[in-house]
Amino acid sequence: MFKTQFKNAGEFDFLVCPICRSSLVSHSRLFKCSECGREYPVVDNIPDFYPENNIFSPQALDLENLYEEFGKHMSRKNDFSNRLRKKLILDSVEGKRILEVGCAEGWMTEDIVRIAGEVISCDISINYLRRARDAKIDAKFIRADSHFLPFKDGYFDCVVMAEVLEHLYSPFRALEEIYRVLANDGVLLLSVPNLFTPSNILCHLLYKRRNSDDLHLNFYDTFSIVRLAQMAGFAVEMVKSSFIYFPPFKWLFMSSLVQNILSFVLPNFGDKIIIKARRKG
Ligand SMILES: [Zn+2]
Repeated sequence: MFKTQFKNAGEFDFLVCPICRSSLVSHSRLFKCSECGREYPVVDNIPDFYPENNIFSPQALDLENLYEEFGKHMSRKNDFSNRLRKKLILDSVEGKRILEVGCAEGWMTEDIVRIAGEVISCDISINYLRRARDAKIDAKFIRADSHFLPFKDGYFDCVVMAEVLEHLYSPFRALEEIYRVLANDGVLLLSVPNLFTPSNILCHLLYKRRNSDDLHLNFYDTFSIVRLAQMAGFAVEMVKSSFIYFPPFKWLFMSSLVQNILSFVLPNFGDKIIIKARRKG
């Protein structure tokens, strides 16, 4: 039953069929689309809107299991670079209704909850979502694919998507979906790893490869991520880098002053790129 997440019938009004975007009828253990009749089960209190016959699913990889395997072992809360990135994102969160795309185990969700009225968090991995739910974070957790968001047009004031775009088969489609679910003047806060860091450049020169081989399909620098957001219709208002160098001086890099100076002097070289983009019209 999803009763613990959705106490009253009206509480799922924001959900739609991720395929045809029609309204849903709630049954005891599933949601059913009022138009196309597709059914979406509720698994362990978590509505599962991962669509069947997903055209953006990888052909060669079992993406669901890949990320579920990831979700079993990872905990990112206390990692220095994530704390810094989280701080830079949270500084720019605005509005009352926030959607978090790719919430993982809720490492940022509990902080978003403190500054927002209503938080809905989704991820593709059911294991991550179970862990987030078990942590008793005051948000609604939903399984969804960011290429097919199961939310009404214009519902959210703000969307936070941290370190997701680089894993997607169609980043442009995901940005289009985010644009759709944002209200006019709504804000997207996006972070991606930067390909254009001194250590990556050095690795290219010395080893002819990147310095890590994680599950990334897309690679960005500040220019390409801004261009992509603009192509999806957003007006980009802010581009920041988070700088994480010199491990013995980590505390120094947590200083806003130091980050601001580095962003000003070397705007395109930080480890992570954070952009704030607004939906206009
Ligand atoms: Zn439908």
